[in-house]
Amino acid sequence: MNIQMVDLKTQYQKLQGEIDAAVIEVIRSGAFINGPAVRSFQANMEAYLGAKQVIPCANGTDALQIALMAAGLKPGDEVILPAFTYVATAEVIALLGLKPVMADVDPHTFNITPEIVAQSITPRTKAIVPVNLFGQSCDLEPIMALAEKHGLWVIEDNAQAIGADYTFADGHTQKTGTIGHIGCTSFYPSKNLGAFGDGGALYTNDEKLGQKLQMIANHGQVKRYYHDMIGVNSRLDSIQAAILDIKLKHLDQYAEARQQAAAYYDAAFAEVAELATPARDPKSTHVFHQYTLKVAGGKRDALQAHLQEQGIPNMIYYPVPLHHQEAYKGAMANPDVQLPVTEALCGEVISLPMHTELDEAALSHITKAVKSFFGA
Ligand SMILES: *Cc1c(COP(=O)(O)O)cnc(C)c1O
Repeated sequence: MNIQMVDLKTQYQKLQGEIDAAVIEVIRSGAFINGPAVRSFQANMEAYLGAKQVIPCANGTDALQIALMAAGLKPGDEVILPAFTYVATAEVIALLGLKPVMADVDPHTFNITPEIVAQSITPRTKAIVPVNLFGQSCDLEPIMALAEKHGLWVIEDNAQAIGADYTFADGHTQKTGTIGHIGCTSFYPSKNLGAFGDGGALYTNDEKLGQKLQMIANHGQVKRYYHDMIGVNSRLDSIQAAILDIKLKHLDQYAEARQQAAAYYDAAFAEVAELATPARDPKSTHVFHQYTLKVAGGKRDALQAHLQEQGIPNMIYYPVPLHHQEAYKGAMANPDVQLPVTEALCGEVISLPMHTELDEAALSHITKAVKSFFGA
């Protein structure tokens, strides 16, 4: 049985006619950059997210960089982020001469918490970058309250959680990425809303801030050849926008397919004492960018070897915590910090195949292979 970590081919085949036609239309129009397809996708994303402004850009890493540039931080300013995340989150902070403050995460949700953020704030703190990891929201309402109290920016790294809903204390819900001052997302092909190449976007509910983000993404220009700020060149091209516009219509149904696969995994592993299935934060829906297990008793690497032998794809997100990465030792505000939860998770987690095309036969095959390792 041919099982893949992510199956983009079958997903494409189901929309092939519509996607092929949209791509050909862009090619025939010649409007490759900032064409009508980009504006259409932008408007549809704004409606889907309930965000005042969506600014498309070239990739998720650029989105984070543009957000930090718009915040107007100065070299040496501290930015709090979880050490249990993809490197891009820390990379842009360090590149701008800011000081990453690596923080620990909750052992169950894998996300940074308001308590951890509160403990990480110093007089030099200027921003927080919560990462909505693996498809689930951080507890953003109290994080926003802390930010307001201390005058800090909140820039959500929503690359893995597009479409997830966060519930506030008063019962209303909002899409992740629209709760912080700026949300950043990635359309990398394997992300929940994936392009056929690179892509990314920023979102905000503050129109003035949105104009600034748009300006920075476009060489800092207010009008053509008039540059008020130093910016970057970061664009989503029209072909990617046309593809994303089609896939956006299916995003909620894609999330449901992922949730169904997760429910199957949960049920299959419920009886395996050594496995902890992913915790659901009651304040967030989970869109399962990844389905990540924790393996007890130091057996993670042996389980991985077993799955490799059985031809079951799997990944370790993430094998090395960011505060232990060679490149970041010199850049961090807290180079000697110990983050026991993050450090333990890097040795315990394993992610199983998760995508929109997992059928019962594949799920049965995967879960049997996992359970056979535990003699279950
Ligand atoms: C994928 C990802 C990014 C970067 O997105 P790119 O489009 O690959 O630049 C940033 N942060 C997180 C958490 C991601 O998963």
